[in-house]
Amino acid sequence: MKEKTKQGKAVFLDRDGTINADDAGFINKPEDLQLYPFAAQAITKLKKMGYLVFVVTNQAGVAYGYFTIEDVEKINTKMLKDLSEANAFVDDVLYAPYHAKGIVEPFNIQHEDRKPGIGMFKKINKKYGVNTKLSFMIGDRASDIGFGKNAGLKTILVRTGNGEKEFMDNRVDSEFYPDYVVKDLAVAVKLIEEIDK
Ligand SMILES: [Mg+2]
Repeated sequence: MKEKTKQGKAVFLDRDGTINADDAGFINKPEDLQLYPFAAQAITKLKKMGYLVFVVTNQAGVAYGYFTIEDVEKINTKMLKDLSEANAFVDDVLYAPYHAKGIVEPFNIQHEDRKPGIGMFKKINKKYGVNTKLSFMIGDRASDIGFGKNAGLKTILVRTGNGEKEFMDNRVDSEFYPDYVVKDLAVAVKLIEEIDK
């Protein structure tokens, strides 16, 4: 019998607009984080399929001075609490507080961690070991797709959050053209289930 090696298969998830609603553009405080109703179940399904699940989120609002690192951590804690109450668990959460046009030091720099840079991928890969051939990036922005492409992952654009606009704006952009475009995270996970078979 042929044994398939599926060690290190991982799904990288964007946060805002992918796991939770992103109506205002920035999530400033924990109360503003509202999970999409399908998010917990989708993550649970990925874990059952044996995927490592990572959240990688750009939080340039720190560099702009809209909120602090402490706020980001509180918001991430709220996300993890809401997910765990629905029996969904992720393996790690990383965020990039940087932006070259920011005003708050030391975050007002261009940094590899900011997607589409792959600093966050490198950190996760070093710690967990990722089999890129079996792994995916799911997000609602071109920067998520760029991150996935730069890291050698299969890419899925969701049409929640900013995704609908991104899909229309970037559909002819070959550099950031996603491998798949789907309605939302629930459908993205169904697609992964099909590909995984
Ligand atoms: Mg997003």
